[in-house]
Amino acid sequence: MDWSSFPREKTDCILCGSSSKRLLSTQKTWPVVRCTECGLVYLSERPAEKALTDMYSKAYYEDGKVGYTGYLQTFEKYHDIFMNIFSRRHRDLLHHARGRRLLEIGCAYGFLLDYLGQRGWEVQGVEISPLSSEFARNELGLTVHTGSLESADLEEHSFDVILLLDVLEHLHRPYDTLRHIRGLLSPGGILIVQCPWELYHWEEIAEAVFRGKRPGTIEPDSVPAHLYFFQPGTLEAVLNKGGFRIYARQSGNYGSIRRLVRPPEINRGNPIERFGRFIYFRLGLRRFLYYAARLVHLGNGIIRYAVPEEDEQQ
Ligand SMILES: [Zn+2]
Repeated sequence: MDWSSFPREKTDCILCGSSSKRLLSTQKTWPVVRCTECGLVYLSERPAEKALTDMYSKAYYEDGKVGYTGYLQTFEKYHDIFMNIFSRRHRDLLHHARGRRLLEIGCAYGFLLDYLGQRGWEVQGVEISPLSSEFARNELGLTVHTGSLESADLEEHSFDVILLLDVLEHLHRPYDTLRHIRGLLSPGGILIVQCPWELYHWEEIAEAVFRGKRPGTIEPDSVPAHLYFFQPGTLEAVLNKGGFRIYARQSGNYGSIRRLVRPPEINRGNPIERFGRFIYFRLGLRRFLYYAARLVHLGNGIIRYAVPEEDEQQ
């Protein structure tokens, strides 16, 4: 698929509204900028919203250029790792949630919903991609709506937990979605948001510097599917602006499966770079740093637990 051929639209900063920005890099023809007022990193030119359904087609889940490489096969092959991730998520849910009615927005093929459904949760999903949502319905027997959250026509105040995992960074109108979520949550209901910490995460800054580039300029895999590249501060500011108060923070690590599917190239660059890569990837330096980073909330996954602003019960 030619990702650069989508119809485009221009945008200013969605956090502070400023049009003042600095170009960090151009990735696959898409400009990645940093707002000079609030620091949000985003695509100042992005695929038009009407291109979304085309974007999350088969190629997104299969060809590995922007989204995933062989999503279904990967799930089968690394089933145990997925089960570990789901089991951790389940444990966190039991700790935070007050009820069992759960909605996942952007549920893809529905594997997490299926896992939770089998453990007593009343699950529903919304998914923009016809391909993956059809699988969730037909193969897993889940209640999954194809389309946007707005089009799903869900009952007001009927969910105790709403999951927004790796989704916010894809949304053209995040505040509309957050407003909608506030209406769908039951009293005492919670929103769990997860997104990657991209471009200004320590590992990417180190990689940029190591390769003689400016921080924030190395290639993210996800352009133009990701419209924003959050850091903890900018993610929280967007959630606050969307009417949510954050009451718990968690740090995670992305990439354990991706690294198995696409192992890092050791033999790249000059001899010093190769030596560095060898120590980092093969001798366990990375593993150690990831472990330590997670403990001090510097993992490359940002997880936030939030409640609607007016709801002070947590
Ligand atoms: Zn801004």
